[in-house]
Amino acid sequence: MKIIRKYKFHAAHRNMGLSGKCSRLHGHRYEVEVVLDLTWTVCGITMEFQHIDAQLNPIFNSLDHYTLLESSDPISDLLGSTHVIQFPFPTSVEMLALYLFRECAEIMGNSVFELRLKETESGTVIVNHSDIKGFPSK
Ligand SMILES: [Zn+2]
Repeated sequence: MKIIRKYKFHAAHRNMGLSGKCSRLHGHRYEVEVVLDLTWTVCGITMEFQHIDAQLNPIFNSLDHYTLLESSDPISDLLGSTHVIQFPFPTSVEMLALYLFRECAEIMGNSVFELRLKETESGTVIVNHSDIKGFPSK
């Protein structure tokens, strides 16, 4: 049985490897859907939703209202560590989706079936276990 839990966070980022508008610092209201594949337990439920949220919310809260930058981005030093979270990869929606999937899977294991990260009204990235192969580990 699939269960979807929804989360959101606001963050700024840029992709300095691109030449267009995405290379400039800007922000998004990221919307996340975590699809869980759960089996029946007791009392007619799979897992209490509040229990799922208690495990996954810290992941999204840890990014909320921060600037997410690739560690080699020179503006990281200008903004300072209280405003910036650095990543060893470009903070595109694709890479952030893989990162978030890995973080969720580290907590909830194979129960995490799929993660959908919506960066704009017209763009959502969907990742699953097969996409995470080759993604850098911590
Ligand atoms: Zn963006």
